[in-house]
Amino acid sequence: MYSVNFLAIRSVSGWITTLAVMVLVLFGVSTATYKKGLEELAEQSSVQLDLFVLYLRGVLGKYESLPEMLARDKNLVGFLINPGGRERIEAFNRYLQTVNDISNASDTYLMDKDGLTIAASNWQDERPFVGRNFSYRPYFQQAMKGQLGRYFALGTTSIKRGYYFAYPVRLEHEILGAVVIKIDIDSVEKSWGYHDATFIVTDPEDVIFLTTRPDWRFRTIGEISPRTLALVKKSRRYPDADIQPIAMRRIQDYPFGKVINLDEQGGTTSATVLQQFRVMDEAGWNVHILSDTRPLRKRILATNVLVGSAIMISYLLLTVLAQRRRRLAEIKRFEDRSRQALQEANEHLETRVQERTAELVEANRKLLSEIQERKSTEDVLRRTRSELVHAAKMATLGQLSAGINHELNQPLAAIRSYADNARQFLEKGRKIEAAWNMAQISELTDRMAQIGIQLKEFSRKSSGKPEIVPLHGVIDGALEILASGILKNKIAVHVRIQPENLQVSANQVLLQQVLVNVLNNAMQAVESCHEKEIAIDACVEEDRARIIIHDSGPGIAGDHVKEIFDPFFTTKQPGQGLGLGLTISKRILKEMGGTIVLEPAESGARFVISLLIVDQQNENEQ
Ligand code: ADP
Repeated sequence: MYSVNFLAIRSVSGWITTLAVMVLVLFGVSTATYKKGLEELAEQSSVQLDLFVLYLRGVLGKYESLPEMLARDKNLVGFLINPGGRERIEAFNRYLQTVNDISNASDTYLMDKDGLTIAASNWQDERPFVGRNFSYRPYFQQAMKGQLGRYFALGTTSIKRGYYFAYPVRLEHEILGAVVIKIDIDSVEKSWGYHDATFIVTDPEDVIFLTTRPDWRFRTIGEISPRTLALVKKSRRYPDADIQPIAMRRIQDYPFGKVINLDEQGGTTSATVLQQFRVMDEAGWNVHILSDTRPLRKRILATNVLVGSAIMISYLLLTVLAQRRRRLAEIKRFEDRSRQALQEANEHLETRVQERTAELVEANRKLLSEIQERKSTEDVLRRTRSELVHAAKMATLGQLSAGINHELNQPLAAIRSYADNARQFLEKGRKIEAAWNMAQISELTDRMAQIGIQLKEFSRKSSGKPEIVPLHGVIDGALEILASGILKNKIAVHVRIQPENLQVSANQVLLQQVLVNVLNNAMQAVESCHEKEIAIDACVEEDRARIIIHDSGPGIAGDHVKEIFDPFFTTKQPGQGLGLGLTISKRILKEMGGTIVLEPAESGARFVISLLIVDQQNENEQ
């Protein structure tokens, strides 16, 4: 919206400026065209005016010398001295008529020294000059002074405008009279009337007597003073003429003339004309030409239309060009901006890609090193585990062999004493006592054989595969292994299995190892306690057997609860434990589909082992 307004204002101001420039230029062009046109018009008019003056001079010059020639005629002199009778006068009139006809003048006549016309070429006209006195006419007075008299006037008798040449007729030095030739100058108007320009001939008082505009005849150019008017009237040059000024207003003077405004048709319209004039001294005339300036105005109008159109076209062209240039510049700016934005986006993207690549490379590197670390940790763990499993096996073996040793030594010692007793009873002949002792020996060997069977089982069933394990047997086996420690420390062990024949799915040797571990921990826990009790409870819960080993020891401190299943976590003295017993037990149980957890207890530690039970019936069916 804002930009639209701005553009509109800009275009309006552009238009106003163009219009202002156009007005100024057109004004300048008009002025120059007007001045130039006026000069040209003045030049043309000047030529026409000169031609007109030349024409007038020709008209006058043709007759100028005729009176002088006639004045030298002896007949004229003689006639003036003695006009004679009627016949002589008539004959002289005829003579003057002939001269007048030949010279093509208007009238030719002879005046005596008193101004009386004594002979005239128009003696036969209705109003002949003969007998009339024209002594008041200046041309007569000039002639009587011995000069060539010249005058123009409206004929008082003929009521025709004419130009008069008068020359004195002399006898010796005496002036007898004057011969006068009147020229009809009406024809001048006719022969120049076809011109566009108006020609005017005025007398020294600015009264127009010759003009190509008949309505201006006997009017004045400009105001005429009453004194001049009185003079004109007195000279009787234009008898009965109503002398009125032509309404005109001078506009401007130029070296070549002046521009005036004329009121036409009673002031309803006006015309502007260029006025130029020449002075014809010899005739006492001012010859004017009034040239119409209307063609000039048309020319100015045409020039203005042309220049105005050129300006408008130039302005439109310039506007279009400017718009085009602006649009191109805008497109270029837009392209530059887009290019820059694209470049920036590219650079940004590159930087991001580089950053992300670096991050990814770093993450990859970290991942690789983590994988490497994990791998090596796993290796270490695997190694450690296998070593530990081995160590645990060895420890179990050690405990087992200690148990075996203990189990075997006792019966062996008993067998020895029973054998000694039997020998002594035999020596004494007490066969019954000897036989009882022998029976004891036999029983003891059975027990020893049982230990052998257990060992055999251990070696045979270490494959790790799950099997049906009677819980009672495996718990007894574990307690058997730990029996020496239990006895030594006088620990009370309570075993409750519900139902008695509860069987679980497990690996017997490994389960026994787990039980040995857990029970061993319990034994160690109760060692220093006053009441040394370990309770082993087994029951069924849904499809699983719960084996609860609860001791009367100090229990496990709250901080340690979460850590006891972690590898190498131990609170025992160095050499007493590695902190792997529970870890391995958990693992072994997991492999068998079982679990081991520490359950909260009021006192002591309460470990719960959960294993899948094997239904007695199912097993039989199998
Ligand atoms: P070790 O016996 O070698 O220390 P274990 O994994 O078997 O390793 O046991 C980890 C730790 O758990 C023991 O060091 C002990 O602090 C604690 N613990 C296990 N059983 C008991 C228990 N019955 N009473 C008290 N503490 C126990």
